[in-house]
Amino acid sequence: MSRYHAQEVIIGKKGQEKLSKAIVAIIGLGGLGSLSAQLLARAGVNLILIDKDKITIHNLQRQFFSEKDIGKSKAKVMERQIKEINSKIKVKSYAQELTKKNIKELVKADIILDCTDNLETRFLINDFSLKYKVPFIYASAIAERGHVYTIIPKEKTRACFQCIFQKAKIKETCAITGVLNVITAVIAVLQVNQAMKLILGKEIDKELFYFNTETNRFEKIKVKKNPQCLACKGKYKYL
Ligand SMILES: [Zn+2]
Repeated sequence: MSRYHAQEVIIGKKGQEKLSKAIVAIIGLGGLGSLSAQLLARAGVNLILIDKDKITIHNLQRQFFSEKDIGKSKAKVMERQIKEINSKIKVKSYAQELTKKNIKELVKADIILDCTDNLETRFLINDFSLKYKVPFIYASAIAERGHVYTIIPKEKTRACFQCIFQKAKIKETCAITGVLNVITAVIAVLQVNQAMKLILGKEIDKELFYFNTETNRFEKIKVKKNPQCLACKGKYKYL
């Protein structure tokens, strides 16, 4: 029996072949990325891991690292963990900050998972995604709430990240506002679910997902393309 038997029953051997051929780049290995990476690795998806930070004790409340790895690179430790989980997939790791100078070289992937915590990097990923037609899945979590949205550049009627968040000013940080480990985990799972559906060629929701662990409210929020959006017009000011 294949190691992927449990999911092959659902997606078939053909579906598994698609997962096993796909490369997903995970930008940021915090509460979202450290779980997303492990789920995708277990499902047989090849990975590119990017995070410049080192592990601290404050990360362990929600990030899938261990005390023995405090002070080490998140990217390098996650690469080791991934290889222990699934030695059959390909994994590359970069302990670097993603910038407009290195994004083309580092992100040679079929799908990008945004697991970052800042708007600048998200606008950079959005520009890259639109220019090179690489789908990207935005995810964010703070306090007890989080969002997931999938950008698919070849679908012309679908809003991009900049269409929705152009005027956003996110001042909240996990250190000041706080974040529960249950919300980062739920949002990571929703994000990975969208990534696997994309790889399998399924239809992807056009709405922005919202989930709140306090109210247990799940919402699918309609979003619209902004006719004034520069990124959608091919003007990539962050790239
Ligand atoms: Zn746009």
